[in-house]
Amino acid sequence: MVLSSLCESSILPLRRPEAMMLYEPIGHDPAHWPDSYWRASCPALPPCPPLARSSTVDVAIIGAGYAGLNAALELVESHGADVAVLEAAQPGWGASGRNGGFCCLGGTKLDATAITRRIGAAGAAEWDAFEHAGIARVRDNLARYRIDAQTTETGEIQLAANARAWARMQRAGGEVLDATQLREHGLNTAVYPGGAMTRAGFGLHPYAYVTGLARAALAAGVALHGDSRVTGLTPAQAGWTVQTAQGQVHARQVLIATNGYSDERLPGWLHRRILPALSHVMVTEPIAPADLQAQGWTRHLMAYDSRTLLHYFRLLPDNRMLFGARGGMSFRPAPVARFAREARQAFDMIFPAWQAVPAAYHWNGLVCLTTSRAPYIGPVPGAPGLFLALGWHGNGVAAASHGGRCAARALMGVADAAPRLTRRPPARFPLPRKLALRAGMALAGLIDGPLRPR
Ligand SMILES: Cc1cc2nc3c(=O)[nH]c(=O)nc-3n(C[C@H](O)[C@H](O)[C@H](O)COP(=O)(O)OP(=O)(O)OC[C@H]3O[C@@H](n4cnc5c(N)ncnc54)[C@H](O)[C@@H]3O)c2cc1C
Repeated sequence: MVLSSLCESSILPLRRPEAMMLYEPIGHDPAHWPDSYWRASCPALPPCPPLARSSTVDVAIIGAGYAGLNAALELVESHGADVAVLEAAQPGWGASGRNGGFCCLGGTKLDATAITRRIGAAGAAEWDAFEHAGIARVRDNLARYRIDAQTTETGEIQLAANARAWARMQRAGGEVLDATQLREHGLNTAVYPGGAMTRAGFGLHPYAYVTGLARAALAAGVALHGDSRVTGLTPAQAGWTVQTAQGQVHARQVLIATNGYSDERLPGWLHRRILPALSHVMVTEPIAPADLQAQGWTRHLMAYDSRTLLHYFRLLPDNRMLFGARGGMSFRPAPVARFAREARQAFDMIFPAWQAVPAAYHWNGLVCLTTSRAPYIGPVPGAPGLFLALGWHGNGVAAASHGGRCAARALMGVADAAPRLTRRPPARFPLPRKLALRAGMALAGLIDGPLRPR
């Protein structure tokens, strides 16, 4: 009964599209693939052909980003499974091919205290180990599949956005640097009074990484289909039938790895349990060595600030600055242009010596939040054989890579394959989500306060 109502909702024609899709269709349109710096600086993967027949596999995976491709590789290499991956566009079209390339700790909006309160000290330690294992997993993937992802130096600095945040950082202890020390370390800005260093993670070329995974999956025998949007999921005798425009796959199990780009009818259970949110990236023209010296920012270290609607930035190997900002509510050109202008104003305030450096690329994409403020890796309740792996909260380079592997092991029946924090199915958002997002952003703006020169 539960199963049939769930599946009915997943195959019914869309009656109220606005209730299923938070953003304008252009944001989900495979034909609209932003001209990012990443695609301009990396050989494209030859197009993966669409699924154009009926086939049978052990596991069908929906979505060819870090989560789906890592799951596919794990299933084939460690469990000998027969796997098909169905991607609406081409591998890496989603967030995995257009992110900031911070391979870092993260994946939840909960801090260690909140995690301990929710699942105890052992659960918090397990999550901490998962985050570090995610970074190690990406390093291992790069080495194992011989992917040249132009990695940059190890570590990450969180910069205090104001005096209050700086005082908090100093109280927390660890490796903190004040403004003078930041300058001495080649991390000078006109805004931040101090920062805290984490000796974990590294920068990478996200599109090189995801296309490298896709090549490895093809070489391992995964049936990887592009231009194959899944339009229906129906229970079949021994599993599920996964429908695309030109074909169908029968699979014992299905893993949905669609994160911020999810179709909330697939399955209907997902509806209103996730909150896709926009992140925006700008990449400048290369900055001349004299201008790097003039600003006093010469390191290729990953950096982000302590704001809720944070700014994140890092110098790329060719000395372009990548500058990211969370926020925005629409894919329409006018609001996107307005948001890009605001991000540029923040950039100019943080790095005044680079005000004349032109921006060469702008693009955006969707990350995925949940009500539990943590990812979900586990079965769809009431739908045997259907699994989800999503909700990386804006930090999925490492977490989705490792989370995809955990999901694969969970599918194969390995007990406790995913960390406890990720095993709680997210509840539905109680409020209309755009309203919640708008209210959340307004509140975050008040708490963060305006960015000000030091
Ligand atoms: C601008 C931006 C900057 C970011 N920066 C960072 C960063 O620096 N560090 C970090 O750790 N994280 C970052 N993230 C987040 C990170 O990129 C994501 O968490 C991660 O890539 C998610 O991987 P995924 O495989 O779960 O999903 P995605 O890579 O989004 O892949 C999902 C795929 O599912 C496909 N799909 C959806 N519906 C269907 C369907 N019905 N049928 C078939 N296919 C479907 C989509 O086409 C898409 O390709 C950023 C994200 C954005 C948008």
